[in-house]
Amino acid sequence: MTANIPEIFACNVFNDEVMKVRLPKNIYKTLKKTIRNGEPLDLTTADIVANTIKEWAIEKGATHYTHWFQPMTGSTAEKHDSFIKPTSNGMALMEFTGKDLVKGEPDASSFPSGGLRQTSSARGYTAWDPTSYCFVKGGSLYIPTVFVSYTGETLDKKTPLLRSMQALNKTAVRFLKLFGNENVTRVTTTVGAEQEYFLIDKEMFDKREDLILTGRTLFGAKPPKGQELDDQYFANLRPRVAAYMADLDEELWKLGIFSKTKHNEVAPAQHEMAPIFTTSNLGADQNELAMEVMEKVALKHGLVCLLHEKPFEGVNGSGKHNNWSMCTDDGQNLLDPGDTPMENLQFLTILCALIKGVDEYADLMRLSAASAGNDHRLGADEAPPAIVSMFLGEELDAVLKAIEDDSVFQTQNETFVIGVDTLPSFPKDSTDRNRTSPFAFTGNRFEFRMVGSSDNIGCPNTLLNTIVCEELSQFTEVLEPFMGKENFEDEVKKLLKSVLKEHRRIIFNGDGYSSEWVEEAARRGLPNYTSTVDCMPHYTDEKNLRILRKFGIFNSNELSARTEIHLEKYSKTIRIEARTMIEMARKQLLPATLSYVEKLCRSISTKKQIGFTAVTEEKIAAKLNTLADSFYDSIVRLEEQVNKACAIKGAEEQAKQYRRYVLAEMDIMRNIADEIEVNMPACEWPIPAYSEIIYNV
Ligand code: ADP
Ligand code: MG
Repeated sequence: MTANIPEIFACNVFNDEVMKVRLPKNIYKTLKKTIRNGEPLDLTTADIVANTIKEWAIEKGATHYTHWFQPMTGSTAEKHDSFIKPTSNGMALMEFTGKDLVKGEPDASSFPSGGLRQTSSARGYTAWDPTSYCFVKGGSLYIPTVFVSYTGETLDKKTPLLRSMQALNKTAVRFLKLFGNENVTRVTTTVGAEQEYFLIDKEMFDKREDLILTGRTLFGAKPPKGQELDDQYFANLRPRVAAYMADLDEELWKLGIFSKTKHNEVAPAQHEMAPIFTTSNLGADQNELAMEVMEKVALKHGLVCLLHEKPFEGVNGSGKHNNWSMCTDDGQNLLDPGDTPMENLQFLTILCALIKGVDEYADLMRLSAASAGNDHRLGADEAPPAIVSMFLGEELDAVLKAIEDDSVFQTQNETFVIGVDTLPSFPKDSTDRNRTSPFAFTGNRFEFRMVGSSDNIGCPNTLLNTIVCEELSQFTEVLEPFMGKENFEDEVKKLLKSVLKEHRRIIFNGDGYSSEWVEEAARRGLPNYTSTVDCMPHYTDEKNLRILRKFGIFNSNELSARTEIHLEKYSKTIRIEARTMIEMARKQLLPATLSYVEKLCRSISTKKQIGFTAVTEEKIAAKLNTLADSFYDSIVRLEEQVNKACAIKGAEEQAKQYRRYVLAEMDIMRNIADEIEVNMPACEWPIPAYSEIIYNV
């Protein structure tokens, strides 16, 4: 049955439409003002809003409510309380107060805080973020909240994002006045996160402990057919996948998520879902929600949705393209070149602010997408390299060259003078797109392609917003004295010229996957942090701390805490992977190998008893026997390395140990296991092979 989209869309969301209809007019107005200005809600208003939300939620089948937040674990957290309240005559009443809505006090002791919150003072609270709508799901009312400690330090991924949006808003409004935008009172950042994922059969998944415990395969020989034929990208959808996607769309629509595009991706069993973009914090919330729904809907179809960055070695991994822009309350997309010379100049100035920012804070951009999972992807010729650079396209690059050289900008048949004529529109079609660039201009937005598929987009957007905020604020300082003066345009061009001279090195329009680029980038002095361990410690570099503190995103304690949490998470992830490998090797793979060798030996002796030769069996048995020996030695060594790493104190030192020694031994072990797999009959191998997993949906 096809869904009636307008009817079901956002049917489970307490959004502006519902508020307008259900709330008393004055309350609606107060709430809107609160949302707009980010002010706290007074308790009388909160009580009325809460009661209205409760009634609406109960109509939608809710019996419970939960403050929904995004702690540093990387997933969302929720604790459900029912609306139920006893009455004096032993009956029950459904109650939900303004206080319940606005503030919660979850036991915060078990969430990572990087030492910010000792278990002895485990106090933290959640506070409603009214800029993100409440919704009903699975019998509960979900209230999007921020999560902070009692002393006000952030313990989540959402608070910094909101802080960065607020800072950028203030700076950008002031900046825009330079270009005559007197009416703009608000600038918000927008995000559309394209989400890649794998779909595999639940039965296969259940047979692999590595997938169950780590989300990726830790063993597995390459199948005879990979993605070399390019026959999967945009291919027609197989019925089971199509059914899943239809169901997924419907579930997402009900939650007010504008799921728009769906298609097969490059790798076998890989797909993508792209929503229509929205405000950053809503976009971040919705992406978290979308990932959860994707996983749940898959189970209903006997499938498992894998969100890991690299579920299968030798097969493309998954990312999350973070499409980013800024828009004003009078409807301008600030990355749209615009229709007038002044708009063009404004656009080019913002563009140069981005160029300067991405160059100066390439390390922040890089580490905003760093995780143990994403380390397998970045720079592996399937996703952007670990080197941050920007793609602008030939035309835009030519415009910037004209600024740099004080010349006119020439297209095939026209000549443009910057600041006098209107720029031609830049191609938005995909043929012109460079898909190898980490940060690419795509006509009216930038696409940050480094982010990993399972990551929360809060961090990349927080840092990007902060970087842009810093640059726009610097530009404003320089240009404000010339505002409205005759020489304003000349001063702008002078500024842009000097920025381009200094920061042109970050622009790269060529093939980001090539080895030449790695060398070229090194010559340009661009950093190349190949792993999380290399880039993460730069989070607290003086220059980074300076801007993060300046705009109130993080204080130095919060920043150190975050760095530590990321490094610890890295170590823990690899420790779990290594232990899973050891367990699978000991309990499944090695016993299977040995028992097959034994089977061969029995066959050899039986054959010899009746005078047959057993040359083939002897060869295979000898080969597998040798491999089994190395396999066992590798298990022992990996165990030793894990123990050594566990004993190391200090998050950074420990993470280094995991990267240098544990990962290296894991690679060795995997290679041995994969060679054994290739030499074993399928029926003797205890876990499903790659071809069984990725070609069977
Ligand atoms: P492609 O894969 O070709 O890059 P998609 O259509 O898959 O394109 O995804 C493009 C994404 O960019 C969508 O999520 C879209 O909503 C988003 N987007 C478009 N305009 C903006 C904007 N101004 N700000 C943020 N995101 C945007
Ligand atoms: Mg896409």
